[in-house]
Amino acid sequence: MKVLVVNCGSSSLKYQLIDIDTKNVLAKGLCERIGIDGSMLTHKTPDKGSVEYKEYMKDHTYAIRMVLAALVDKDTGAISSMDEIDAVGHRIVHGGEKFSQSVVITDEMLRVVEELTELAPLHNPANLMGIHACKAIMPNVPMVAVFDTAFHQTMPEEAYLYGLPYEAYTELMIRRYGFHGTSHKYVTGRAIEMLNMDAADTRIITCHLGNGSSITAVKGGQSIDTSMGFTPLEGVPMGTRCGDMDPAIVTYLMDKLGLDTAGVNAYMNKKSGVLGISGVSSDFRDLGDAAKAGNKRAAAALSTFAYNVKKYIGSYAAAMNGVDAIVFTAGIGENDRTMRETILKGLDYLGVDVDFDYNMSCPRGEEVVISKPDSKVKVFVIPTDEEMMIAHDTARLVK
Ligand code: ADP
Repeated sequence: MKVLVVNCGSSSLKYQLIDIDTKNVLAKGLCERIGIDGSMLTHKTPDKGSVEYKEYMKDHTYAIRMVLAALVDKDTGAISSMDEIDAVGHRIVHGGEKFSQSVVITDEMLRVVEELTELAPLHNPANLMGIHACKAIMPNVPMVAVFDTAFHQTMPEEAYLYGLPYEAYTELMIRRYGFHGTSHKYVTGRAIEMLNMDAADTRIITCHLGNGSSITAVKGGQSIDTSMGFTPLEGVPMGTRCGDMDPAIVTYLMDKLGLDTAGVNAYMNKKSGVLGISGVSSDFRDLGDAAKAGNKRAAAALSTFAYNVKKYIGSYAAAMNGVDAIVFTAGIGENDRTMRETILKGLDYLGVDVDFDYNMSCPRGEEVVISKPDSKVKVFVIPTDEEMMIAHDTARLVK
């Protein structure tokens, strides 16, 4: 069975064609600058390499047409006809409280997703555009929606309620939702297998550290708390997002800097985080280089990030009465060994005993155990694979 996985942003479209039976990625690619001058499709297959198509894409429907043409192209493609695509899996950022699992896409469920647009005004409309584009071109192919929030719907009330009047929750839908659920779920599944314990007894802390970062407490395979909240702005400071802070800072900033709501949102989402602290970059590689060269603000950004991740690990160990495994994943979690070391140093009170030499020399892009063999808490680095997770859910639901 071949599943096309589609992940749409407002001006981008990422895709992978996955053979579920062999777990092989047959092709993948990215459409950039949709609706903007300089649109481009980069398409890759394992045996035919990478090819770029520079052509103006006026909308997502046009982009999907180009992707399908690339997929069936004799020279660059991976399949001989569109009929070989058995199903399409779509990523949707916000499922609110309506979706606690992936679902088959129907007109009725799309209406519900549209109603949730208020909660994710930047993301859900883009995700919906991708779905409508695929439906227009492949009307008879079954499609499945996989939500970033779904995995976290198991959180208990005490974890998802904020200290606001209860009506803020019941009438305005203000609560913790959490994001990156597909990634947290994927690495949780892998970690449970690696732990060799009864799944129901496992207590795992998953650290998805990338451009956006979130930490999740997973008990018995279910998310019981997570650091991102009502929006992906909460939690640890990120590339450009501020993360946790005193909420009174918002109105103070508006007064002092004369910002309106859009202005203060941009300030907290795009100018803050490690970029804002360092003034150098949102990319941890640049920050590492700058800190080594003596840039104090870059060093401060890195240590603030590490300190906040460590605090979440401690609080989630408290929430679960201990921890059996800590997992690192995503761009920083998988690649930034120095950051892992900084986060993991001083967690011996929890029973974390890391082989720091191996942490520095272990291979990248593979699942590795960086804790010592008799460490009470296992520490895993597990490359995330959200596309494979989406493809699996899609195949399961359309079969
Ligand atoms: P996204 O949230 O966009 O999917 P990723 O998970 O790809 O992000 O993470 C991107 C981040 O990972 C980059 O900003 C960069 O800081 C970090 N990163 C990637 N490779 C390395 C590396 N070798 N060393 C340090 N940081 C890295």
